[in-house]
Amino acid sequence: MKEKDIDGIIENWWALNLNLRIRTDLEGADEKEFIIDLKKFKEDYENRISNDMITELNNLYKEYKNEEILNQIQEKLNEKIIAEAEYELFKIITQDPENVLNKLNEKLKKELEWDTEIKVFPKFKIINAPELEISKLNHNYIGKLVQIRGVIKTISETLNRVIEGAWVCKTCGHINYVEGDKKPKICEGCGKKRNETEFNLDINKSKLQSFKEIIVQENIEATKTQYDSICVILNEEYMSKFGLGDKVVLTGFLKTSDIQRKTQWLKEFYMDAIWIEKYEEKIIEITNEDIEKIREFSRKENILEKLARMYAPAIVGHETIKKAIVLQAVGGVIKMKKGTKVRGNIHILLIGDPGTAKSQLLIWNKNAVPKSIYVSDASGVGLTIAITKSDDHLTWDAGVMVLANEGVACIDELDKMRPEDREAIHVAMEQGIIDVHKAKYHITAPANTSVLASANPKLGRFDPSKLFTEQISLPPTILNRFDLIFFIMDKIDEENKERELALKILNGLEENEDPQFLMKYIAYARNFSPKITDEATNEIANKYAKIRVSGNNGKIPINARNLEAIVRLAEAHAKLRLSEVVTKQDVDVVFEIMRGYLAQLSNDIDSFVIPAKVRENAMKLLDLLKGYNYIEYNRIMQLAEVEGIEDVDTALRILKENREIEEIGNGYVVRGESYGT
Ligand SMILES: [Zn+2]
Repeated sequence: MKEKDIDGIIENWWALNLNLRIRTDLEGADEKEFIIDLKKFKEDYENRISNDMITELNNLYKEYKNEEILNQIQEKLNEKIIAEAEYELFKIITQDPENVLNKLNEKLKKELEWDTEIKVFPKFKIINAPELEISKLNHNYIGKLVQIRGVIKTISETLNRVIEGAWVCKTCGHINYVEGDKKPKICEGCGKKRNETEFNLDINKSKLQSFKEIIVQENIEATKTQYDSICVILNEEYMSKFGLGDKVVLTGFLKTSDIQRKTQWLKEFYMDAIWIEKYEEKIIEITNEDIEKIREFSRKENILEKLARMYAPAIVGHETIKKAIVLQAVGGVIKMKKGTKVRGNIHILLIGDPGTAKSQLLIWNKNAVPKSIYVSDASGVGLTIAITKSDDHLTWDAGVMVLANEGVACIDELDKMRPEDREAIHVAMEQGIIDVHKAKYHITAPANTSVLASANPKLGRFDPSKLFTEQISLPPTILNRFDLIFFIMDKIDEENKERELALKILNGLEENEDPQFLMKYIAYARNFSPKITDEATNEIANKYAKIRVSGNNGKIPINARNLEAIVRLAEAHAKLRLSEVVTKQDVDVVFEIMRGYLAQLSNDIDSFVIPAKVRENAMKLLDLLKGYNYIEYNRIMQLAEVEGIEDVDTALRILKENREIEEIGNGYVVRGESYGT
């Protein structure tokens, strides 16, 4: 399209646009007056008054000669003309957006130039451009106006860019002022072209603008493991209201990068944004029909068990863990206690042998829990907020805890987390906020995030002869943040599989017609905020006291932290019942889950931990064997009898499984390595 035609369309629109009243007192001017809403322009055009209607009115007027009808006709005609002018503008903005926007802004500036009071001229903002997924942005859209949606992943410190360069010609010394950051094509002083002379930027005479570079990552709701992102450049004034982890809609021009940054994330193109807005994420659509189904389901018996069965149905066994995960998904209630906030988030840790189902359990979370993010390796990504220095400036990078705010962060291999994350994750898990001080910078971001993490045993594999609690490779300060810790062993996994198979054959497969039902149920149940009743409080106190008294070997397996966890879990269970109160029933279900967990922590259950006596016995035998390079089985039996070591076969099995000894022929060799403490 010719420039002349573009100018014509702008003039026409300008003259007709009755809404656009340029006010002399811009102090009070509404920002909305300079917003061009593309969607509205298009819709108004599509809904514009039909000719039929005007003809009809005309006929009416001919008959009645009524003044009012005449006014109506005039009004309808005006609306139509405006709608048409807006649509013309819509079309040229779509085709040549940057050029048209510049022209509009120039015109606005000219209209207001007489007013010397105005220091910063207002500018037009174009909103509701065609929206594109970040992953779909490509070279076809360069120069086009697009709208994207995503989460702010990183923010840079404030940077400056040239918006009007003062280029000094080396030949004649003339200063050429050029808009943007590009060199002049030709010198206005001597007429030499860019390739015939040299232009040097005089930064003091150039006009600069403060801006920030942010990286916007596509919505985490998308079910994928890798997220695309784009670098966006924004005037600093826009950024003052936005922070890491915010969900935003941006309108801007897609451009190729001619600012040469070597940073990895700034791929070939970036967005020069002219508009940014927060948006409320619609987690999941729940229809009235869904609510009906959810309410009906909520009246069933053993609701938690039934819901847990829908979680990762392909992974057999692990019923208790699945129950805990469902409770975590809805969460407890945030409360105030003596002026401090008590979190409602439930944190769960799975510690397990390699090859067990723990990763699959974590990955599956995305299918059931709104706002859930999975990361496969805590060392590969930041968990909290990282400050990085790229090329010439600092950036703040939001980690998983920030991005999964108000949801669940599923973190595999938590034991490999970066040292710099350890401190911040503590605070985040307890207070729901990330707070990083570094040098002169202080940055905070909300991280009201539940953690579902996995970790490996200290030695890579559980040693059945040692206490589980001794085999966790995470510092106790972090362990204390978890409401529930589960230990998964190879053997138990196997048993689970067998049992589940048997059950499936017995009961027939339970199919759920709507695969999204669990997610909808969770999203709906989250909205409840049940209060604890006296009855429930008494029940917790009774059960708590009982467990403390029955603590084995003098060990007390329950503490005040566990008590808080019980309350949270009971609240979560009440939410699943869509109840406004926590009752005895909720407490009973939760203690059932806690009992298994506490049993694991205490050392009295054979299937989880080798009794201390048997373990001692094995250690005694090992000491004995250490005196020999190779010792035959018969000889071991003789020596054991002398030393009073009982059940030699079990002791040998444990030592073998623990790789302390190796079986060779009819005897054993003590391995040189030492495992653990
Ligand atoms: Zn020159």
